Amino acid sequence: MDLSAIPLLDQHAHNLLKPEAADRKPFRAAFTEGYHSDIIAHHAQHTFFFRRSLREIGQLLACEPTEQAILTRRSQLSLEQLTAQCFTGANMEGILIDDGLLPGDILPLDWHQQFVPVQRLLRIEMLAEDLVTKATSLDNFLAQYRAALDPPPADVVGLKSIIAYRTGLDVQPVSIDNARAKFAVWQADAQNGWPRMVDKKLLDFLLLHALELAAHHQLPVQFHTGFGDPDLDLRLANPLHLRPLLEDHRYRGASFVLLHASYPFAREAGYLASVYPHVYLDLSLAVPYLSVSGMQRTVRELLELAPFTKLMYASDAHQIPELYYLAAKWGRTVLGNALDEAVRDTDLTADEADEVAEAVLHGNARRLYRLNTV
Ligand SMILES: [Zn+2]
Repeated sequence: MDLSAIPLLDQHAHNLLKPEAADRKPFRAAFTEGYHSDIIAHHAQHTFFFRRSLREIGQLLACEPTEQAILTRRSQLSLEQLTAQCFTGANMEGILIDDGLLPGDILPLDWHQQFVPVQRLLRIEMLAEDLVTKATSLDNFLAQYRAALDPPPADVVGLKSIIAYRTGLDVQPVSIDNARAKFAVWQADAQNGWPRMVDKKLLDFLLLHALELAAHHQLPVQFHTGFGDPDLDLRLANPLHLRPLLEDHRYRGASFVLLHASYPFAREAGYLASVYPHVYLDLSLAVPYLSVSGMQRTVRELLELAPFTKLMYASDAHQIPELYYLAAKWGRTVLGNALDEAVRDTDLTADEADEVAEAVLHGNARRLYRLNTV
């Protein structure tokens, strides 16, 4: 199926880098989750994703498909011209942006609005780290944290948690006394210039607080699940760890959006979406970072069991505009192929396949985030 005419609603992406920040990073660093200098220097250019992408970017920018030719071509374009070309090629109706990645180095949401409508996702760990130095006590901190989320700011359509990166998805209840002791240590660190929240008890405590408020406001909460950069312990990023939270009636009002196809736990994620009404899935990061056959297999695995009303297109694009274009191209292609296969297999009729394409590429996200972009 050719899905190029269906505009995409990208339900999870990040801001582009300011030009001066982008100049400090090698181009190919945007094509790997690794950040070790040896990975960037010697290995990142040898993935299927990177080799394939050189040809696609070369075609888009009308230059030779080599890293050097692309760098030369990019230097002739303003960031606005490059972004317009990539976003037009991606055919998007909107983007939900988590603006908690690389604060200080990124362009503001308003900048992106000149190309496409943008809505905001609020990263709760960053909110907490912003508040910790201002608070006088845990009670005072909690009052500020709750005030920031209850109700959520008007431009926020969902929350985002990176707890998988910090201490994992095996979230446990924490008593207020336990949190109080940990808070004192965190606050002292923050006052010495280290506001990063790394204590499991505090992370769990604040996530559960946010989930209760999200449930009250029926707000979707996006969870990083599956692979990512090596800050993450992949064993603890398996979404099956979320079961106690999914079973807990206090959080039933919040939708749990499992990001990144939970790769390589795509079937586990598909299972959760098939049995819990409030679990949703997206394609981001797996598309476009995997090989073509890997992306194809991942989409198939998600749809083996999950209702197609639960699956949403997303890119996790960040840093450079080309990632929006590459994700859009491959998101449409692998979904189209999976739907062709479903028709051949008699899982769907051709009309039903059209319905699924619309749902995954924009309809499901419009409904979940209550967006009126039609
Ligand atoms: Zn992300």
